[in-house]
Amino acid sequence: MTARVRDGLRHEVLDANLTIPQAGLATLTWGNVSGVDRQAGVFVIKPSGVPYQDLALDHLVTVRLSDGKAVDGDLRPSTDTETHRCLYLAFPSIGGITHTHSTHAVAFAQTRRDIPVLGTTHADTFDGPIPCTPDLTPDQCKEDYEYNTGRIIADLLKGDDQRATEVPAALVANHGPFTWGPTARTSLEHAIICEAVADMAINTLALSPTAHHPHTCWPATTPANTAPTPTTATRDRGRPLPQSPVSLRARLSGRPGGCGVVRPSRGSGPRSPARGAAQNRPR
Ligand SMILES: [Zn+2]
Repeated sequence: MTARVRDGLRHEVLDANLTIPQAGLATLTWGNVSGVDRQAGVFVIKPSGVPYQDLALDHLVTVRLSDGKAVDGDLRPSTDTETHRCLYLAFPSIGGITHTHSTHAVAFAQTRRDIPVLGTTHADTFDGPIPCTPDLTPDQCKEDYEYNTGRIIADLLKGDDQRATEVPAALVANHGPFTWGPTARTSLEHAIICEAVADMAINTLALSPTAHHPHTCWPATTPANTAPTPTTATRDRGRPLPQSPVSLRARLSGRPGGCGVVRPSRGSGPRSPARGAAQNRPR
């Protein structure tokens, strides 16, 4: 059976998947990208176990959103398909999802720590810490592990679609990052940025274990989320979301910050005195 999906979606999903290894986000066949066609009620995802160098358009699998049934494609869909499906159902704004086991983001996931906001590189894309889920319970692991992985992310964000737009990523404890966006391509870009800011955060905390975001510019998160040293296995799982939806990006978009810098809004010019100086240099 062949399912029609909107023009360009399969190519976009293929290109995004092929970029995963090029961006250094995957080892072997790890990682996957999907893109949804909500009108058709299906999403397109990478198959399971096909090496990236062999991946072709024909290998992609189309899966029905309502019940997870593969409706097009000869191969088995990625093992993470049910996680993707759960996230699409929970957050209507999501058009594409990327999952990787990228090294630095996984380091945060394996220590069950949020990736803290330590500077503008992070804040330009993620309007608050990238949160880490609690562990799945033994029962959640035993049955429907993949769908429950999506559920635990949805629970972490309290099913708040707006929040999912503001911080388009989450870490699954002891597993890795899931990122999303309005398109498959955007979700992949968010995966690349998630890995980059995780890398920067680890380096920053290595140089200065007490590094933190300046509270005058960025709202504080809970101490458990921003602690510079590894936390114990007993984190407070009932904590509130680390950041209110009104937020960091609003604070960065034109109001004078406590650090004394008036930050212009996205795309409206130089974002920092340093970049402004560079752009004003004679060429
Ligand atoms: Zn995984």
